[in-house]
Amino acid sequence: MSEIERYEFKRELEALENKSGRGTELISVYIPPNKQISDVASQLRDEHGQASNIKSKSTRTNVQSALDSILSRLKYMKKPPERGVVIFCGAIDIGGDKTQMETTVIEPPELLGIYKYHCDSAFFLDPLKDMLSDKKTYGLLVLDKREATAGLLIGKQITPMKHMNSTVPGKQGRGGQSQRRFERLREIAIADFYNRIARHANDVFLPLNHKGLEGILIGGPSPTKEEFIKGEFLHHEIQQKIRGAFDVAYTDESGLNELVDKAGETISDLDLAIEKNHMDRFMRELVNSKLASYGEDEVRRNLQAGAVQVLLISGDLRKKRVKISCSNCEYEKEETFKLIDNQGKTDLGNCPKCSSPLKIKEETDVVLELTAIAEQMGTQISIISTDFEEGAQLYRAFGGIAAILRYETRL
Ligand code: ZN
Repeated sequence: MSEIERYEFKRELEALENKSGRGTELISVYIPPNKQISDVASQLRDEHGQASNIKSKSTRTNVQSALDSILSRLKYMKKPPERGVVIFCGAIDIGGDKTQMETTVIEPPELLGIYKYHCDSAFFLDPLKDMLSDKKTYGLLVLDKREATAGLLIGKQITPMKHMNSTVPGKQGRGGQSQRRFERLREIAIADFYNRIARHANDVFLPLNHKGLEGILIGGPSPTKEEFIKGEFLHHEIQQKIRGAFDVAYTDESGLNELVDKAGETISDLDLAIEKNHMDRFMRELVNSKLASYGEDEVRRNLQAGAVQVLLISGDLRKKRVKISCSNCEYEKEETFKLIDNQGKTDLGNCPKCSSPLKIKEETDVVLELTAIAEQMGTQISIISTDFEEGAQLYRAFGGIAAILRYETRL
């Protein structure tokens, strides 16, 4: 998913989240790609039959007509799309004691793994929301002198990849052997084990190195993990990607879980680091040079002129760009509204040329409008969350839209 696809998908889910129904009238159906449509249809027909027991007449009617609506859509589907499909349908509360039957069909950005039929006063969105969470990859390694486990963290999923045991003897020598000789052999055995760990870890991590491996997290008791890191046993490119060492008690599969828990903060800090970098640069340019631009109109002009190197947009921006035209003459203008402002707003005033009523010709989300221009102009796009100080500042102080310029402009 690109940043923009992600943004669009997030907005789609937000829109669904804001819809509510009465009682349990909103239906969500998750259909994975391997599910037979005929099986889904037969379950829905069952539900339709059972719904006849619902006491409230309006609920009964609404549930049954939602089911009818979903069934009629399934009729034209021979099999589910490649990644599966989710259908949301129900009588949405639109205020003023009114409801309106609405259907939304979503083809998920990732493979759908579950089949689910869900009936509630809100749509069931958790599996789709999970797809929004970051799918970054980290290499995991937990070790002590006895045991080591290498694994991967992809998104929120931890997968153990390789488990190793050592033959390193305990600290106490056996009788008969000289203590010094014993210690020497033990050190050799430890170095051998570290080398073996490194070989297996390299096998797991190296193939991913240029495919978005964000970093390596290492866990274990002190001072073993420090010794391992300091000894630079890992391939030098992997060694460079070590992002932290954490104390964990276990060095098997459960140690991997423990490591991810401990490293949680570090991981989210790393995610924010790129956004932070962009914001820091913007702030520096703002103070020291003329390569910073902000405010919707100014940034749009700079974008259209191809002068923007990095477009910074707040992830919390909720505005739409509306094309307004005259119902009678050629007059046209564009305006930006906050998303909530013109819900159902119909009075747009009159044409300044001929005084006929104005009407909405076209509307787009401002973020999508600006990023579309950015893509044409080869501008880098950075969607900035409000989870950190400068990110919140972009939203509050700069209207959520800013840019780092390629060259000085007077637009
Ligand atoms: Zn007009």
